[in-house]
Amino acid sequence: MGNVKINIDGLDLVAKEGKSILEAAQENGIYIPNLCHHPDLIPSGNCRMCVIEIEGRRGQIIACKTPVEEGMNIRTESQDISLIRQTTLELIHTNHTQDCTNCSKNNTCQLQEVTAFVGVDEERLSRLRRTKPFIDKDESNPFFVLDHNKCIMCGICIRTCDEVQGVFALDYGYRGFNTIVSTYGNRPIKESVCESCGECVVRCPVGALYPNETKLPTREIKSVCVYCGVGCNIFFGVRDNKIISARGDRDSIVNKGRLCVKGRFGYSFVNHPERLTKPLIKKNGEFVESSWDEALDLIANKFKNAKGEKFAALSSAKITNEENYIVQKFTRAVMGTNNIDHCARLCHAPTVAGLVQSLGSGAMTNSIDEFTNASTIFSIGSNTTAAHPIIGLHIKEAKRRGAKIIVANPKEIDLCRFADVFLQQKPGTDVVLLMGMMKVIVDENLADLDFLNSRCENFEEFKKSLEIFELDTTAKITGVPKKKIIEAARIYATNKPSSLIYAMGITQHSHGTDNVLATSNIALLTGNIGKESAGVNPLRGQNNVQGACDLGALPNVYTGYQKVSNPEIQAKFESHWSAKLSGDDGLTHTEFFDQIEKGEIKALYQVGENPIISEADANHVKKALDNLDFFVVQDIFFNETAHYADVVLPATSFAEKDGTFTNTERRVQRLRKAINPPGEAKDDWWIACEIAKRLGAKGFDFESSEDIMDEINRVTPSYAGIKYNRIENEGLQWPCPDDDHPGTKFLHSEKFARAGGKGKLFPLVYKASIELPDNEYPLLLTTDRSLYHYHTATMTRRIEGLEILDGEEFLRINPADAEKMGINDEEYLTVKSRRGTVKVKAKITNICPEGIASLTFHFHETRTNELTNCAIDPVAKIPETKVCAIKIEKMNS
Ligand code: SF4
Ligand code: SF4
Ligand code: SF4
Repeated sequence: MGNVKINIDGLDLVAKEGKSILEAAQENGIYIPNLCHHPDLIPSGNCRMCVIEIEGRRGQIIACKTPVEEGMNIRTESQDISLIRQTTLELIHTNHTQDCTNCSKNNTCQLQEVTAFVGVDEERLSRLRRTKPFIDKDESNPFFVLDHNKCIMCGICIRTCDEVQGVFALDYGYRGFNTIVSTYGNRPIKESVCESCGECVVRCPVGALYPNETKLPTREIKSVCVYCGVGCNIFFGVRDNKIISARGDRDSIVNKGRLCVKGRFGYSFVNHPERLTKPLIKKNGEFVESSWDEALDLIANKFKNAKGEKFAALSSAKITNEENYIVQKFTRAVMGTNNIDHCARLCHAPTVAGLVQSLGSGAMTNSIDEFTNASTIFSIGSNTTAAHPIIGLHIKEAKRRGAKIIVANPKEIDLCRFADVFLQQKPGTDVVLLMGMMKVIVDENLADLDFLNSRCENFEEFKKSLEIFELDTTAKITGVPKKKIIEAARIYATNKPSSLIYAMGITQHSHGTDNVLATSNIALLTGNIGKESAGVNPLRGQNNVQGACDLGALPNVYTGYQKVSNPEIQAKFESHWSAKLSGDDGLTHTEFFDQIEKGEIKALYQVGENPIISEADANHVKKALDNLDFFVVQDIFFNETAHYADVVLPATSFAEKDGTFTNTERRVQRLRKAINPPGEAKDDWWIACEIAKRLGAKGFDFESSEDIMDEINRVTPSYAGIKYNRIENEGLQWPCPDDDHPGTKFLHSEKFARAGGKGKLFPLVYKASIELPDNEYPLLLTTDRSLYHYHTATMTRRIEGLEILDGEEFLRINPADAEKMGINDEEYLTVKSRRGTVKVKAKITNICPEGIASLTFHFHETRTNELTNCAIDPVAKIPETKVCAIKIEKMNS
């Protein structure tokens, strides 16, 4: 778009074509009063404050909805304009509570600003009569209040909920004199479909929507959200050593100022009274407080006798990159073993194993920001709006821009509201669905042959393997109608660029690696990779699960996926670390517990994990932990697994330390210390270094996280150019091999990271899930996430507001299944699998198809993972958390 010349109030100006007069004025520093305008929203023109006059046109015109045109001569002031604005403003004031000094928006209120500019006639105002009755505030939401009596009917909240969030929770109700902002049926906000994101609250121009916490911070610190892998950038407001507010960074390319409910309101856990503040040592079966010296000496003494394969460490997707680096260095260089793993084993191990084989790199190929420009988004096995809410917003934005959305999920998830095609495959049949789609693509000559010939290998063999995936077979196994398979295949292959996203619905299977290979197959087959807004995009779960993998908290690789079995790499690390290292792959997370049970692993060092809740077949984990000689838990809370420990160490939370996290799109971002830690809590890296030094190790004398990053830069080619001074404002995406490299927005643009540079297609066959329903256990249980909780919920369940919004587990079950068993909504049930029993209430819902029930795993009172199956994928060693067989019994039967 070009520029146009306009004149505002006698000033000659240049404005961008397509901009409104209001925007052009604002960009040139000219104030036109307005109340219903927001730069993120489509102009509505309903406040009538921005009236202006244009030479040659009759009457007054609203500036927010009128585009600039060449030669326009605009007046923002005249007697008529003043009269219109003043009259409108007086009418607004008539229905507005006149109690500014007691309002949280006092001095930042847009109505005050407009009033000061336009002016009101107090006498005329005193003669006007309020047309609306006073209405009670809606205080049902635990995080914010809606005070109708201050509402100026600008509609910004309604449009935000529609246009930004795609939730549609609000509208105008009781149209006429008594119009109010209302939920459907004017129910309290908490009982509506509102997701409590607070986006409407931050945009409300007056004090009608305001957060419960109205105190102002004394300072703000820019940092990164601690919850999911999106890695939203946040300004935390701090006052009296507490985080009291969170504000999305509008300049961040990741979240563009937006936050979900957890990101905006989920921080009070940091100051929770149950935070660990002193080291604890178990003496005579009781935990007693100790000094750091006593605890660290004890640990060093015990670890000294458990070196080599008798030792294992669980690192964490919650701690920083620098801390993961230290924990894996300690395990390898001091304890002499590669038995180091973390919870990626339970979520994205197949991503690393699969995508490395097919593409050469096991990470998201493209960037979050690119989703909005995709022509097609294919979401498979990802409940995106619940697990990665801000990526959910990017997808909704893409839809508004005209993208086609394909959703494949066994359950009718929220994203289905935006889907052009919804493929409701049976759990565990993803390979068949994707290969069936690929057969359609090949049969209809929709494959990208140029791309296959020039960039890929193994196409002919792969093509033959598709023969068994006839449409009839595919439809029968997956349960998806043939018509929909064809439609989805055609859209994905032709409406390019197509971006495929997936999450744990793909990975948490006994054939998770095959599932991942199927996703890369379809992208390679159609040439939807190595390009902007395309690619294969595994959405990583926890805030730093990508970083924990990158920094070598895996049993087979050092930092940057450098193989431990490669003698040259081994020699390089031996030289850097001045240590003798093992060239054998270590055991995985899931294998640790088998070896502990057998008595082979004697000591476990667990940093920021909670396997009693997160590990499949959790009863097996309990048995194993009882068998350890020595168990150290390092965490911010005394979690469920800590009960089994010999020593519990208090660690700092994300808000109390510096460092970096790497988000799901490979972006390394700065985390900054906002407050002081409670009691004697210490940084995870400091603790591991102190243990190492007590064991006589050299190379652990770091002064800061930045020091550690310097060492990471030296040993990790993909992180070599990622320096703190380069990521002050915006993170860098790896690979970033040197100080001048700008980082990599999307991977594989010229060649793939595999040896030879080509992408590889893999023939696949259908492998059924290990435990399917039968006569004894007739229902299939799958697992899911809640928007309001995170992982084992040690943080989110300590936030009162989140507990109010979602404080209890429910078994979601289809109405037909409920009817067969005579189950009523909210009735307590006993859910049994071959491994455990859980008592939980029923929620009858069409979200689950017949024969399938679902639970989250956030609630320690109802431990879902005591039911799940630990049958593992032979390549990635991930347990099959997504599929197991259950039976349900009524409590009184
Ligand atoms: S509640 Fe706020 S944002 Fe919503 S219409 Fe009223 S004044 Fe506008
Ligand atoms: S908090 Fe979010 S979901 Fe709820 S009404 Fe406001 S914008 Fe909509
Ligand atoms: S989307 Fe994820 S990173 Fe962003 S605010 Fe929500 S939980 Fe935090």
